[in-house]
Amino acid sequence: MPQFPGIKDLQYFEVVFFDLDNTLYAYDPAHKTALDRALMHFAMQYDMTVENTLNLYKNARKEINHRLHGQAASHSRLLYFKEMIQALKNTRVLSEALKFEKLYWQYFLSEITINKEALKLIKQLERKGIRMGIITDLTTQIQLQKMKKLKIENYFEHLITSEEVGVEKPHPVIFNYALEKFNADAENCAIVGDNIKTDGGAEHVGIKCFLI
Ligand SMILES: [Mg+2]
Repeated sequence: MPQFPGIKDLQYFEVVFFDLDNTLYAYDPAHKTALDRALMHFAMQYDMTVENTLNLYKNARKEINHRLHGQAASHSRLLYFKEMIQALKNTRVLSEALKFEKLYWQYFLSEITINKEALKLIKQLERKGIRMGIITDLTTQIQLQKMKKLKIENYFEHLITSEEVGVEKPHPVIFNYALEKFNADAENCAIVGDNIKTDGGAEHVGIKCFLI
């Protein structure tokens, strides 16, 4: 279970940012379930073994990650599935990538629930009038869907995604953009996240980072 900072640690900040994936909910089990199921559909559709399908997926992801490193689209499931279908040289069915992407996110969203400790902290911060935002590496469309599913959208003044800013954490530009949105000085802001490499990058612009 992730350990969250207490309200005592955060109460004197003007703005508290949160990371979304793996901070406000557990990413890994949802991803595993969603990927297993989507790949199973893929394997059935193209008459492949699960093992070969998984290898196809890994290669597709590697290719996309390599090509789009540092951009929100590098995480796009749609691009992974499209790449997989292309690799099968079955390009007359390219639009089926849409179906697998939809399946993946349906399963994913049905699995996620808000971390109770996180929700408790968010409510405490709200009661103290502390403003909150989310800074996250992915596309806005899916991150909004996650916020809706987690029922947390009302707590946050801004959602800052790498898609909208053009760079991912720990690039200082994404954190500076967030400060600008809130019209706040870094020294009055904190971020709560799970990743020292990405969320921890906030410290380079002067935002205090609390790792869970
Ligand atoms: Mg995270």
